[in-house]
Amino acid sequence: MISCACPWLKWIEQRTPDPQIEGSSPFGHAKSMHRKKCSLRIDCDTKQGLETGVLKISELLFHLNIKASFFIVTGPFDYYLSISRIFTEKGFLKKLLHLNRSYLNLSSKNKINKIAIVEKILSHGHEVGLHGYSHFRWIRDFLKWTDETASIFFTKGVSDFKETFGYLPKFSAAPGWRMNFNLLQFQESFNFNFASDIRANEPFYPLSANGEILKTPQIPVTRPTLDEILIYRGKFPFTLENGDVYCAHAELEGMNYINIFQNFLEINLRNGCEFVKMSEILKPSELRTKKILLGAIKGRTGKIAVAK
Ligand SMILES: [Zn+2]
Repeated sequence: MISCACPWLKWIEQRTPDPQIEGSSPFGHAKSMHRKKCSLRIDCDTKQGLETGVLKISELLFHLNIKASFFIVTGPFDYYLSISRIFTEKGFLKKLLHLNRSYLNLSSKNKINKIAIVEKILSHGHEVGLHGYSHFRWIRDFLKWTDETASIFFTKGVSDFKETFGYLPKFSAAPGWRMNFNLLQFQESFNFNFASDIRANEPFYPLSANGEILKTPQIPVTRPTLDEILIYRGKFPFTLENGDVYCAHAELEGMNYINIFQNFLEINLRNGCEFVKMSEILKPSELRTKKILLGAIKGRTGKIAVAK
């Protein structure tokens, strides 16, 4: 285990791994000896996460022979913009105090070589997609944006990704699950294989109020993230069920919580989970449609896009 002064980390280290699932399985399958297909989504939100956390996670996944889907931010590294959310989002100060070790760690002043990092991720057999432009400005301001502003930021993300890595992203996830139906409609023109913008319990096609069905499938994160669990003091690790998508953050699971993350992965591997890339978990012909709305998730501040 890691030795660390963080009281929250000590608290979580002291917990015995609990094979019981926290909350109900979104797919409702009883435990069985059959192999389960699950996916890991790895969000890389900060410079520190990209230059250190991603590589540590990549090494860990290589060691465990696990493939995952990475989501990379474009535009400026702007975590400092989150400070004003203390005044606008209930519970954000608490979150900041608990997680600031991970998010406010000072990065080196060197220019980060995003291309080398992404090449390394791809060389290990993972896939890499877009995680928005100006990640923390997006989270802070999205609900105030006009449709035009949202589409400009979205397009900047795609073009920045192409300019940096030399190819268009094949999938995308909006920062902080800040998304609405109008931007989803705009996103259709980029012909992504899938997107992961909305919290829900299973993959689906978005449905408008007037019955229009969008063609880009959503593969949601189906289980609580570690930063959410740390805030409401939930159980971790937990066991994944067939079809589950777990979202890790390079700034957390790739840094102070790497040993806890390794424990989580090993428990689930032993429990019959086969980790596949998100693009491989999708079965488009089996998807239902769901309406998008703004909602709340336990342990996360502010309103985010959820589906029902
Ligand atoms: Zn993010």
